[in-house]
Amino acid sequence: MTIITDLIKYSRLAFSLRDILKDSPISLEQSKEVIATRFYNRKKNFLSLIEKGVYQNPRSPFFKLLKVADCEFGDIESMVNQDGIEAALSRLLAEGIYISWEEFKGKKDVVRGGSHFRFSERDFDNPYLPDYYQIQSSGSRSAGTRTIFDLRYQMEKGYYLLPMLAANNALDFPIGLWSSIPPSGTGIGSSLRYWKVGKPVAKWFSPVGESQMHISMRDRLALRYIIYGSRLWGAKLVKPKYVSSTEAVKVAQWMAITKRQFGGCSIQCPVSLSVKVCQAAMENSLDIQGTHFFSGGEPLTEAKRCQIEATGALVRSIYSISEIGRIGYGCPESSITDDLHLFHDSVALVQRRRKLDDTDMFVNAFCFTTLLPTAPKILINVESDDYGVMETRDCGCLFEQLGFVKHLYNIRSFAKLTGAGVTILGTDFVRILEEVLPGKYGGVATDYQLLEEEDGIGQTHLSLIISPTVGMVDENAVIATILDELGRSTPSNKVATRLWSQMKILKVKRIHPVAKTHKVMTLHLMKRND
Ligand SMILES: [Zn+2]
Repeated sequence: MTIITDLIKYSRLAFSLRDILKDSPISLEQSKEVIATRFYNRKKNFLSLIEKGVYQNPRSPFFKLLKVADCEFGDIESMVNQDGIEAALSRLLAEGIYISWEEFKGKKDVVRGGSHFRFSERDFDNPYLPDYYQIQSSGSRSAGTRTIFDLRYQMEKGYYLLPMLAANNALDFPIGLWSSIPPSGTGIGSSLRYWKVGKPVAKWFSPVGESQMHISMRDRLALRYIIYGSRLWGAKLVKPKYVSSTEAVKVAQWMAITKRQFGGCSIQCPVSLSVKVCQAAMENSLDIQGTHFFSGGEPLTEAKRCQIEATGALVRSIYSISEIGRIGYGCPESSITDDLHLFHDSVALVQRRRKLDDTDMFVNAFCFTTLLPTAPKILINVESDDYGVMETRDCGCLFEQLGFVKHLYNIRSFAKLTGAGVTILGTDFVRILEEVLPGKYGGVATDYQLLEEEDGIGQTHLSLIISPTVGMVDENAVIATILDELGRSTPSNKVATRLWSQMKILKVKRIHPVAKTHKVMTLHLMKRND
């Protein structure tokens, strides 16, 4: 990356910051209007994206797949006009127009109708977006993808914010963030969006610090550029304050003080950190009753929700995937733990029944299609590594009134391990378990296994199972080896391992590895297998 190209990117960033921040804040009424317009234009948006982004873009993987399937634009147009987008997507899926999660990540060839392809994630980039500063998705459900930090798209996601606060009666209270700094885009994106809807973030805590993380000069500059550049256009964004995941009491104290002063408050942070804040509030008798946690990054499980609600606080899911966008927000009227409304104004979802590699297990994987012209990637039926339940149901909340009648719940990943709001692909562990550990500590590849578990108080732990046949090993040294190896692979893994190390998420168990399962196993998948 040369200084010149960086400068071009920063100047683009400056212009779009100005364009976005110079106008007055978006109101709740405007948010509702934009959502209604998206629903109204849904078919038109979808067809336009397919026509321009696929049929007029030979670089698109779907250009090639649709050719193999002998499917013309007119065929898709008539399917959509006759039966709707989802019915058309289901038919396309049956014709092989989809990309599995492994294919999307470039881990597998795409084989359709005798043709072989291998795509990289960049091939899916929306060609109509300028090349902005890129961010790492370490704070979200997708591990290690670089996604274009397009401010217009960041703002598109902002239209859901005021409805979320209104649906939870949280519009009048201050908002805090406990969210990572760049290269993760979550914190700075949220900060800009909340400003844009007239609800500037009152306090931004970051679980990672610049010096501690050895953040690159480029990322440091980008963060300062956005924070101080925004001030030129009147937006006083707060600077992040480093509060490690072991200092949750500081966040709990801020919430208790803010609640006392203003009658309430909300915080947006990963699910595991929400649990930590609530444990700290309980241990220190801090009153955070009635406050709101808007939490994503990992599944909101029953145990985690109970732990949060024990303080009298409320928790709502945020479901986001950086390559796809904002997918949904929690329903305030539902008794199902992680029930959320699918934002089908901007994404379409159909499910694909698929087998998991090396197992006899099947899941109904989510396949997403992007609908907005500002989406960073143009995707048709692209699997995320999540599966779950989708149903149409009346709940009576504001989201339903806005047209979001589809609910998702029991959402889990079939390929990732989560903890402290950061994720690492299970496959990143395989080489370490099969080669590094046996090489260094003895035994064979099958003597090591990783298991994701949740304890009774809602904390996620990763257990490294080492077969007793391996003999004596220094458990701390083994854990240090794993974190060291993982941290070397990608910047997002570096963030993850730092937090995992802080939170002591990885523990050793000296038992025989569980037979006939994944090398890397999550508890929910094991339960399905029973
Ligand atoms: Zn609802």
